[in-house]
Amino acid sequence: MATIGVVGGGQLGRMLCTEAQAAGHRVIVRTDEPAGGPAGQVADGECLGPYDHVVANAQFAAQCDAVTVEFENLPGALLRDLASVVPMRPGAASVEICQHRRREKEFLRRLGFPHARFEVVRSAGELAQAVNGLGGTAIAKTAAFGYDGKGQVRFRPGDDVPGGGSSACDVEAAWADLAAPEVVVEQLVAFRLELSVVGVRGVDGTWVPFAPGENVHVGGVLDHTVVPAGVPAATAAAAQRVAGEIAAALDHVGVIGVEFFVLDDWSLVVNEMAPRPHNSGHHTIDACVTSQFGQQWRAALGVALGDPSPTSQAVAMCNLLGDLWVGGEPRWEVLADQPGVHLHLYGKSDPKPGRKLGHLTVVGSTADEARSRVLTLRHLLVTGRCEQQ
Ligand code: AMP
Repeated sequence: MATIGVVGGGQLGRMLCTEAQAAGHRVIVRTDEPAGGPAGQVADGECLGPYDHVVANAQFAAQCDAVTVEFENLPGALLRDLASVVPMRPGAASVEICQHRRREKEFLRRLGFPHARFEVVRSAGELAQAVNGLGGTAIAKTAAFGYDGKGQVRFRPGDDVPGGGSSACDVEAAWADLAAPEVVVEQLVAFRLELSVVGVRGVDGTWVPFAPGENVHVGGVLDHTVVPAGVPAATAAAAQRVAGEIAAALDHVGVIGVEFFVLDDWSLVVNEMAPRPHNSGHHTIDACVTSQFGQQWRAALGVALGDPSPTSQAVAMCNLLGDLWVGGEPRWEVLADQPGVHLHLYGKSDPKPGRKLGHLTVVGSTADEARSRVLTLRHLLVTGRCEQQ
């Protein structure tokens, strides 16, 4: 039995705890949030306090055989301090690249991975220039602390951009909204669909990808994922290969999620990487021999990786955001007599709209059937209740 440390106390840490404990391990959570969060509720221990609290960090590291992360927006100093005393998988370098959009995009450009054209800007004037340089169709993203479409502004031709439109208003307002010293401005990619590959790279460099997921985002947030993705086998294989090459170039050890845009000609453009289990990999809990969280503890401990094979022909996963709770508790009983349905709730007490509170997974015989069932059931969780009122 080993003790695994996880930095971050959210739902990804919670699902890691459950899987690692089922294999006989202990998990200690290191978080700067209050005690009893999603991971803390199920962990074997919590180590609290700000991430620059040297004593808390040392106490945490001393209890762990290996440390991993469930969240990438962590101070580099913390990651490097931990890595100096305990095996840290992934290492600080990979996390520091993936946590910061400028470093991430520059990494993709330097290594020659396909990516959207981008500029780095540091003022409203530079933002206007960059948007115009990209033909007026662009998306501006804060370089640091961005996730789930937060800290993003889109521009389309006809928007008010100095030099390309009529007034400085919109770009000034966008700059104020972004409220960040450094912003990455990317070309808006006209994609056919979005795809992600979640995989794990072991300490010996072995790359074990899951089958790619097809993702649908709403408002920049993942809405649902289906597997198998509706892409030719060659595209799926190329995405798995590129994700593995990225993991290797990062010298990443652990689970990684790589998001792609698939263009009309089925070519791939890398959008971003997450140096940890990924929302689009949640279906692996109920539909693969080994889940992404099972792979995470294996990679952290440096033991043999698990089998990523699917256990069903198709699967769909949809997120349950706080919006579903607006009229009261969702009507969970609609799921009770449904075969192949798995509900996961994250133990969050405050159901704010937009907040990820859980997910629903449906296994089936085709991707279309699984997608249609999972979306219908999510709808019923709310409409079922409304019909009764
Ligand atoms: P991100 O936080 O970068 O993953 O962005 C969230 C979502 O916004 C993506 O999954 C896409 O649906 C959309 N998006 C982000 N960047 C672009 C882009 N350059 N072109 C088109 N859509 C984008």
